[in-house]
Amino acid sequence: MANRRSVIAGNWKMFKTVNEAEDYAVKFLEEVKDVTDLDIVLCAPFTALNPLKNELEESVVHLGAQNMSWADQGAYTGEISAQMLLDVACTYVILGHSERREMFGEKDEEINKKVQKALATGLTPILCVGENLNVREEGKAAERVSSQVVQALSSISKEDLSRIVIAYEPIWAIGTGKTASSKDAQDMCATIRATLNGLMGLGAEQVPILYGGSVKAENIAELLTEPDIDGALVGGASLDPISFAKLVHNA
Ligand code: PGA
Repeated sequence: MANRRSVIAGNWKMFKTVNEAEDYAVKFLEEVKDVTDLDIVLCAPFTALNPLKNELEESVVHLGAQNMSWADQGAYTGEISAQMLLDVACTYVILGHSERREMFGEKDEEINKKVQKALATGLTPILCVGENLNVREEGKAAERVSSQVVQALSSISKEDLSRIVIAYEPIWAIGTGKTASSKDAQDMCATIRATLNGLMGLGAEQVPILYGGSVKAENIAELLTEPDIDGALVGGASLDPISFAKLVHNA
């Protein structure tokens, strides 16, 4: 692996009340407080962010959201702005997750506006891309994923691009227990890096590319031996603080 920062991010999705989040933070911090060689991120539901801000203050764990609006403020019922995330000490935000694309109709153009807004306000976007099973079986996975990357990052300066994180998450591997093989994950992460190289030149070498899709404490180490996989975005296996801490230690 090149001289890139590693990132292990937990994506809690729509799980955990405030009490559960606080309880998790206490247990998790105890287990990972000495980890300094990679960036640990917890991407929690909006309602848990402010309580977690207090729990995680001055710790090694960074706070992230799972979505945000492209708008600054105003009449946008039900939306949350970048400024609101910064206000509760978020430094990361997941954008373009496949569940948002598939179930809530998010399109590349909208994701691009969100990525631009995140970068403009100083948040680090974790941009998710990935193909579904049909596209993979048609042999069009690389084409689809590259197109998602190009569209989501359109009109962004090379300097800003150097501050993003990308997560390759094949939809058929999310929450299914079916992890992509290390080789398939590596091939696609290398494709993403080549696409980034086309957009930003050698700066692409510094962008962390994560793999996501049924990552567990048991398979993280093998995935990370691949040259273009710099970390993981973890759903189900991030929900228990002790198991997720074990995954972090195995990374
Ligand atoms: P999973 O989810 O680890 O439960 O497969 C990953 C994700 O959706 O980010």
